[in-house]
Amino acid sequence: MSILVWYIVLFAPQLAIGAGIGWWFAHSRAGAATPEAQPSETQASETQPSDEQPDGDSTATADELRLALNQLKSLTDAVQEDVREHAEIVDSSNKELAAMDSGDASEVMNAIGPIVKANEELQQRLQETEDKLAEQAELLDQQTTEARTDPLTGLLNRRGMEGEISKLLDEYEQSEMSFCYTILDIDHFKKFNDDHGHDVGDVVLSDVARVVSGAVSRQDIVARYGGEEFVILSPDTELHEAGQLLERVRAAVEANAVRSDAGDLKVTISLGVAQVGAEDSAALAKRADTALYAAKEAGRNRAFFHDGLHNHPISLGASAGNDSRSDKLTELPSRAVAYPRSLYHPQ
Ligand code: GH3
Ligand code: MG
Ligand code: MG
Repeated sequence: MSILVWYIVLFAPQLAIGAGIGWWFAHSRAGAATPEAQPSETQASETQPSDEQPDGDSTATADELRLALNQLKSLTDAVQEDVREHAEIVDSSNKELAAMDSGDASEVMNAIGPIVKANEELQQRLQETEDKLAEQAELLDQQTTEARTDPLTGLLNRRGMEGEISKLLDEYEQSEMSFCYTILDIDHFKKFNDDHGHDVGDVVLSDVARVVSGAVSRQDIVARYGGEEFVILSPDTELHEAGQLLERVRAAVEANAVRSDAGDLKVTISLGVAQVGAEDSAALAKRADTALYAAKEAGRNRAFFHDGLHNHPISLGASAGNDSRSDKLTELPSRAVAYPRSLYHPQ
């Protein structure tokens, strides 16, 4: 038997184990890197930071993740033990072969017999382990998705959204790719709940999530920030483009009739937007929030932008009952004009 064949017989299982574990890592990393799904693709179990939503589900998810990781550790320990036993068998057979005079085929067969048997057993264990690893990878994937999803609307939750903002901020740092951060809030929602009940309120929340998701651009990411507030992240978008987006979203919600047990209901939203500058995510969110607040103050059912220093109304298409708006977009400043990185200091 040639040296090469010996090596294949002796070390095939170890190679297979390496390949199996490598496959699992590649699979689980690919799963973790999957771009965040939009409502139709996501599942849910995590809760919002809102006082409306207790965080029992997120605790359950954390426990499930811990359990899955513990199982993974047991599995890895078991594989290590199998490999160690196998190595001992190979080692002892190897010694036998080394001590042997060459030539006697039956003696050689006797010596390699235990290796062949051990190989078969190890291959079988490896197959079982691979199957279990695939199961674990799928479970972890599912739990990761659930931990980032709002159960009521199927949108990304706040945690998921913060992950997406970090990615966008990294891209902005590396390649100056701009993005816009919009926060929107349902108008007079408390009264709505008081008038129609919490369950109808929940139907409205889901419906607003659906309408907003349908009105944004393909690359935009919509998240439920908490309570009756939503965030839209618009990658590769300048402020003037976001202005058009905000109007599209506002008008879509205004035009939509929410079908509920209480009949067809109308709601409106107010929106605030800011374009990323030299700041962290909290400062960016705060600027968008001040723009939202300005929109509320100005009468609701409208959008404002924050230019780095001040809030301004986005004057958009005429809207029923709102004659103060022009038919044209307000000239929104470009990022370079609004807040050059060298001059801009977040408030
Ligand atoms: P504004 O126009 O200033 O935003 O007024 P508002 O009434 O919408 O704002 P406020 O913050 O006073 O009330 C928010 C309400 O949203 C209170 C709470 O009952 C309701 N809410 C928050 N989360 C949920 C939810 O998950 N389901 C339901 N049905 N209501 C919720
Ligand atoms: Mg609110
Ligand atoms: Mg509100």
